Amino acid sequence: MNAVLKVTDLHVYFDTSAGTVRANNGVSLQVREGESLGIMGESGCGKTVLFLSLLHLQQPGRIVRGSVVLDGRDITHLRESEMERLRGRVIALVPQNQATALNPAYIIRQQLTEALKIRHSGGSLHSLAGRQNTGSQSAESEFRRVFEDLGFEAGPVLDRLLRSYPHQLSGGMRQRVLIAMALLMKPRLLIADEPTTALDRAIKAQSLNTLQRLRGSLTMLVISHDVEAISAACDRVAIMYGGRVVESGACPEVLSQPHHPYTRLLLAAQRRRRGEPLQAVAAETLNLIDFPCGCPFHPACPEAMPVCAIETPPERCTDGAMVACHRFTGEAR
Ligand code: SF4
Repeated sequence: MNAVLKVTDLHVYFDTSAGTVRANNGVSLQVREGESLGIMGESGCGKTVLFLSLLHLQQPGRIVRGSVVLDGRDITHLRESEMERLRGRVIALVPQNQATALNPAYIIRQQLTEALKIRHSGGSLHSLAGRQNTGSQSAESEFRRVFEDLGFEAGPVLDRLLRSYPHQLSGGMRQRVLIAMALLMKPRLLIADEPTTALDRAIKAQSLNTLQRLRGSLTMLVISHDVEAISAACDRVAIMYGGRVVESGACPEVLSQPHHPYTRLLLAAQRRRRGEPLQAVAAETLNLIDFPCGCPFHPACPEAMPVCAIETPPERCTDGAMVACHRFTGEAR
């Protein structure tokens, strides 16, 4: 299967008064056509900077090395005018904060109509505000088709949704509207940023259901610290620590039989604290300005060996999986 997205050795740095923050420190991954890849890790692991860099929204961070290739085209240093044409239409983002991502002054039908206009005109999302919105029969049928794909039946509930302002909807409904807007653009890659964060149990269940429906129907990158969201939405998962991928592979295998000590601790912390905010595993011990030599996880790793403080572990691949740990000898799960 073709790779829709290929990221190779991506380094993204931020210059601060305290020094250079190495937020992405050699990220490599790929997402194949129709596949859903989860990016999982704690706050500070580099997952947010990674997806922002794909959209060229990482400023003031700068890409200092590596490449981002989309459908065979290197977009690492594309001009802003070209990126504006890609954002939304080729790479669509479903943002984390559904409460503020929609325009409070327009009903949902108007906002969906704008998304369609942008797709047809080739304009940018910046042109959304202040334009006249009109509906049409073909637009209405597209809205209904997209919402049906998300599990909505045509009828009074959907009619009411399309007539509503964002503040009249629940968090779960607003999230589905944002997903619908993204789907209307028919993107090559959909990025879902923390799709279950700040949702209560019942709404989170709806959100997981929506993600499951999308799985397999389009190419997705799901950014999350939540193992339930990753399990529901993803075929493969990449675990990030210290600005790089430390383990990746098929979701069921990595989540049930992790090889990397950091992955094991991360999953154990989630099992202990399910339903509560994730307890830090080790991120607090890592200084992104003054990186330790060797494996960045070694100061916190319960399985560290002397070599771990000296040599950076290589990325060892076996059976479609990758593990960056000196203890990993390449055995299959
Ligand atoms: Fe732990 Fe060493 Fe593996 Fe790093 S390389 S995760 S310190 S065992």
